[in-house]
Amino acid sequence: MYLKKIEIHGFKSFADRIEVEFEKGVTGIVGPNGSGKSNISDAIRWVLGEQSAKTLRGSRMDDVIFAGTMQRKPIGMAEVSITLNNESNKLPVDYSEVTITRRVYRSGESEYYINKSLCRLKDIKEMLMDTGVGVDGYSSIGQGRIDDILNNKSGNRRLLFEEAAGIVKYRSRKEESEKK
Ligand code: ATP
Ligand code: MG
Repeated sequence: MYLKKIEIHGFKSFADRIEVEFEKGVTGIVGPNGSGKSNISDAIRWVLGEQSAKTLRGSRMDDVIFAGTMQRKPIGMAEVSITLNNESNKLPVDYSEVTITRRVYRSGESEYYINKSLCRLKDIKEMLMDTGVGVDGYSSIGQGRIDDILNNKSGNRRLLFEEAAGIVKYRSRKEESEKK
């Protein structure tokens, strides 16, 4: 499984719709300071369900919506889609490509989609569980996270190993059934 494409519209500095295809061999994104490199990684975390504005380098959740510039009016909505190649069937769905979309309006309404069908964040989390790709997975390691893992703050290291071992879904189901 790999990240094939990302589409961004109205998210942070990306007022216009952009599309980045990660063709074979692409290993990095380069650009001048302030050109939006970190905004791309924020977009990936956000679409996977990140709920912390601080982690996305903002103070409120609607800080992710394009706020306007001297030349351009603010936008009312932010939307990000990532397309994962699932030919390996690592994601437990019958699609060889899976597109995850998140959209938020200034009113605070948030919507999630899997392959253009409206779904809950819970569905996305369950689909990504134990794949390493989820927002708490090991495929996205933000600044400071390595220290966190080494210091084993709040059992973080254990969570990482559980994800790699593929047992998060069992713990999650157990917790769900205990709640009932
Ligand atoms: P560096 O090399 O310094 O790390 P970078 O390429 O990672 O730079 P980013 O942090 O991704 O740059 O982009 C920062 C730019 O995004 C800033 O110019 C900031 O004003 C702009 N920006 C962030 N949020 C918004 C928003 N909601 N609306 C408009 N612009 C935004
Ligand atoms: Mg940066």
